[in-house]
This record gives sequence, C-alpha cells and structure tokens, in this order.
Amino acid sequence: MEEVSSLYVHVPFCRKKCIYCDFYSLEKGERGDYLKLILKELNLNAPQFNQFPTVYFGGGTPSLMGAPFFEGVLSRIGQFSEVSVEVNPEDATREKLKEYKEVGINRISLGIQSLNDRVLRALKRQNTAKENLKAIENSLSVFSNVSVDLIYGAPGQTLEELLKELEVITSYPIKHISLYALTLYEGTPLLEKVRKGEVKLPEEEETSEFYYNAIDFLKDRGFSQYELSNFAVKGFESRHNISYWKLKNYLGLGPSAASFLERTYRQNLKDLKAYREKVERGELPTEVEERYSKKELLELKLLMGLRLTEGIDLEELKIREAFEELSKREPVNSLLEEGLLVYNRPVLRIGKKGLFTYNAVVGTLISSLL
Ligand code: SF4
Repeated sequence: MEEVSSLYVHVPFCRKKCIYCDFYSLEKGERGDYLKLILKELNLNAPQFNQFPTVYFGGGTPSLMGAPFFEGVLSRIGQFSEVSVEVNPEDATREKLKEYKEVGINRISLGIQSLNDRVLRALKRQNTAKENLKAIENSLSVFSNVSVDLIYGAPGQTLEELLKELEVITSYPIKHISLYALTLYEGTPLLEKVRKGEVKLPEEEETSEFYYNAIDFLKDRGFSQYELSNFAVKGFESRHNISYWKLKNYLGLGPSAASFLERTYRQNLKDLKAYREKVERGELPTEVEERYSKKELLELKLLMGLRLTEGIDLEELKIREAFEELSKREPVNSLLEEGLLVYNRPVLRIGKKGLFTYNAVVGTLISSLL
C-alpha cells in the first residue's frame, strides 16, 4: 500500500454547541476512556500504520483534552513532523499550551472566528474579542507556528469590520489564516433562524466582495492564498490539509472521522455511543464505505486538486489531450476566455475570478470532461 501521509483524530466534545456548526460533537460526552478508544481503533485499522508525517487533532474541541491525551496518541506513532491541534480561545492559556508543546505538538490552529464582539455575539460564540486577542498572544508566546480561523459573511458584518479584523490579526506574527464564509447547514439552529427571518445573512454579491477584498488585503500583508480558503506566509502552508487536497492516503480516527485509503473512502459512525460499542467489540466503527471507480477517482482529483491555487498537472492525470480538445468548444472555452480557469500547459488552475464560484466552475469542467 502507498504510504499513509496523515492521521486525523476527531475529538467530539464541545462545551456548548455553536449555532452554525454541523461537525459531530457533543456537549456532554464521556471523555474518560477516549484515549483508549482512539488507540484501540488505531490498532484495529492496521497495526502496520505507525508512521504519519502529519497529525491533526480536530473537533469538536480538542483543547478540552489535557496534554496526556495527545502524548498517548503521539507516543504510539512515530516520525511525525507537523502536529496540529485546534484550540478554542478559552483554553489557550500559556500553561496549557506549554504542556502541549512538551508532548510534541508544534502547530496551533486557533478557532477565534472573529475579533468583533457584535459578530461573535451573532455567532453565539463563547468568547469576546478581547479574550480572542489574549488567546493569540498566549499562543504566539509559546508556538511560532500559529494559524487562526476566521469567519466572514456573518449577520450584520460590514466589509470595513472584516478588513479591520484582518488588519489586527496580521499585525501579529501569525503564519496561517483560514478564512471561511459562514455557511448554512441543514439541521443547524442558524439555518432555522434564517428560514424564520430572525437572522439575515449578507447577499452573495456582498459575500463575494468580502472574499476578494480579503484576498487582496492578505496578499499585501505577505500571505499567499494557496487554497480557496487558506492563506499562509511562505513555508507555513498546512502540510496536513495539502495531503487531503492532493488525495493522498489518510487515516481518520474517532466518531465521524473520514479516511481515504487506496481509492476507498470510509467514514466512521457519527455517534459516540455506537462508535464506542463497535470499537470495544473489536470491530471497525465504519458507517460508510465506498470504493471509487477510476472515473470517480479522477473526478475527485479534479474537484480537490483544483482547490489548490498551484493547480493540477493534466499530463500526470493523463487527461491533457482530452482537455485541450475540449477547450476549443463550449462551455470549457468560455471558462478559459472569462478567466475562471487558467491553462498553462500542462497545468490547469482555477482563475482568480473563479475562486468564489468554484463549485460551479469545476462542476462544469467535470461534467464536460468526464
Ligand atoms: S464550531 Fe467548534 S466549538 Fe463550536 S460547536 Fe462546532 S466544533 Fe464545537
């Protein structure tokens, strides 16, 4: 089997569920035996997996766990070079972060979401802007590789407010920024509120303006956009996430975690109780398993790979000739003419104009090509 390049560990616990979130997490979940379950699932998956160049603890709120949890997982595997943990601002104390560093964590992803109190209240986040700033300062006093997550397009947010937040953030030696549009997911309280007319989100045109202004602002501040929603100082791109977009093999542990191993996509049960029962019985806690055909795999490679602004090599995918033939005809010809896609033989990439409407652009390409 091809090398497994990354390990993802899902920590499905949160203090309080946020109104916009559709990740699997519980406000009250038994955490005492979680390390044991994760290690058991790792063994069940394949005892031969013991080297992962990158490890990512996501959630949920991984920072609800103490350093021994991370130590327990990391000591079971070897040869990792990038180890990231998502940290909620309320957990970002210097003491806790120092303990995390001591057990081998070397990258912090801070879920601050905003530095504006009105936006934070609208999102029903637990922190204030002041607390978020303190969390950034604490993180930078312990780690040199700090990423922050920001949301744009929140109810009532203005472009000036977003740029002000970016101004403050980039005045710190932050190395990486993930910038996500607030998205409405089925089953979330936020979607209900929007449907009832209690909350109004910005129109698409306004959200697109936020996005493009943010891209230009961050570029001026030395952050290059290497993926649709991700910006980094050179050399600080998330290696872990790049391996997802390049469709390398990865293993996910914990309820709801996904894995991709040799053309097979698998997702674990999204229920801690059912997950625990399966793992304790010595069975893989799989809920969905799908083996991709060659065509589906190619489709996925385009869909994921074009997210990276460096683009994809069509020669490597063995579709250069087919694409060049197609590029003379509609609708692909228009995508190129309008700068939604950019082709420099043999590399195809998404054009700046196509970034915001990525799904539609790549969807059109795929349905024409495959
Ligand atoms: S956004 Fe983060 S902290 Fe909030 S419920 Fe989702 S996983 Fe938990």
